[in-house]
Amino acid sequence: MPIKRVLSDKYVSWGRFFRYSHEVEKLHWYTELEELNLHEENKPMLAYGLGRSYGDSCLNKDAMLLDVSGMNNFISFERNTGVMRCEAGVTLAQILELAIPFGWFLPVTPGTKFVTIGGAIANDVHGKNHHLAGTIGNHIHCFELLLSSGKRVLCSPTENEALFRATIGGLGLTGLITWAEMRLKKASPLITMESIKFGNLDEFFKLAEEDQNYEYTVAWVDCVSSGKDLGRGIYMRGNHKNGGDVLKGSIVKKPIIAVPFSAPNHLLNNFTIKLFNLAYYEKQRQKTVVKDVHYDPFFYPLDLVDKWNLIYGSRGFFQYQFVIPLAKAHVVAKVFELIASSKMASFLAVLKKFGNIESPGMLSFPKEGITLALDFVNRGEATLQLFKKLDELVLTADGRLYPAKDAHMSGDHFKAFYPQIDEFLKYKDPKFSSSFFRRVVGNG
Ligand SMILES: Cc1cc2nc3c(=O)[nH]c(=O)nc-3n(C[C@H](O)[C@H](O)[C@H](O)COP(=O)(O)OP(=O)(O)OC[C@H]3O[C@@H](n4cnc5c(N)ncnc54)[C@H](O)[C@@H]3O)c2cc1C
Repeated sequence: MPIKRVLSDKYVSWGRFFRYSHEVEKLHWYTELEELNLHEENKPMLAYGLGRSYGDSCLNKDAMLLDVSGMNNFISFERNTGVMRCEAGVTLAQILELAIPFGWFLPVTPGTKFVTIGGAIANDVHGKNHHLAGTIGNHIHCFELLLSSGKRVLCSPTENEALFRATIGGLGLTGLITWAEMRLKKASPLITMESIKFGNLDEFFKLAEEDQNYEYTVAWVDCVSSGKDLGRGIYMRGNHKNGGDVLKGSIVKKPIIAVPFSAPNHLLNNFTIKLFNLAYYEKQRQKTVVKDVHYDPFFYPLDLVDKWNLIYGSRGFFQYQFVIPLAKAHVVAKVFELIASSKMASFLAVLKKFGNIESPGMLSFPKEGITLALDFVNRGEATLQLFKKLDELVLTADGRLYPAKDAHMSGDHFKAFYPQIDEFLKYKDPKFSSSFFRRVVGNG
């Protein structure tokens, strides 16, 4: 199929905050990319997966996007070893659909299955098993990178190792990943899950101390409550079920409901968010619930609502995710106090302890410590003022923000969070760029 360039203003990121126009090339086969003639191109270029990044790291204002989502074929799958090679636009949902009938599962997955493998590598995504499995980059054998010069380079821990590490978590700036190979893990698709109510952050940290016994751990926190209830929430932990139970129903669940259009901007206000947080906390009556569940709602509860990002209205919304070292864990309470007093409640707050497995990427976000992810309605200047205060807390706690979720970080903060940027820049492709990169580094 010939590659055809179109001018489009339809390519947005998940937060729907930035609205840019792009020149878009839709890619179809990894073997047929020579006709792109990237070496003749003058505009900055960037790969785009499914736009599940929240800010502007997948956007390239007034420049070129290479839409990889149609380049989504499997290349090989060894049923006996679980080694799988696929084009970069294959989604995690596709991989689950292929692998589960043979007893295989993803080694690492983020909180949505609607991401491409290329996008997952470029952000070196993490999941609920970070404390035992590290990031997705820890499980990638190799991939092919297409440079703007037209050259194809095989990258692995033993071949072009520095380019391999620069591309994992490299925000799409080193070139276009055309295909990738990774090893899946043998595991049941059923999860034995425990869901435990905790009354404050001390209780959360106690539960987190037991995380070596559970492959998956994460907590939802009610970030509207203050005083004695500050930091209360529900801790979820689980392991793949032992034994050969088969899944009931479909292998990969489809969304059960869709948000049809952008909701009115006033739908999510302090009152409705407070109500949601209260209802979520109270819906579990018992202190602890234990049950076997289908992996899909366990890992991907938000995927059950198609286009849920539209509920934030036409102004869009922000995610704010940081990690701070364990020694500075007390800062998490300060963050919740600041949010509660700002009256800018977060709709969803997710807290997790990262482990000490080193991420392979030069610019990977995860490091040992506590990570907190928050959603905020876009209230313009007021929200940005809150972020300014939060940023200072993160900076002084030796933490960092996650570029995949970011729409506001300053260049100075980025350089302080990611001092490896100078090393990384040696491997950046001169023609690849993004709106995020120009915002935090410049035109280099
Ligand atoms: C509901 C939800 C839950 C999430 N939960 C988590 C989580 O638990 N953990 C986590 O780490 N993240 C999480 N994320 C973020 C998401 O996993 C990442 O942003 C992911 O990288 C998005 O993949 P994508 O295919 O949509 O890529 P895009 O968002 O389109 O692009 C992301 C980056 O990848 C680059 N890229 C894409 N394809 C290629 C390619 N072929 N070659 C080179 N570069 C490429 C882009 O240039 C861009 O820099 C979540 C997002 C959502 C919406």
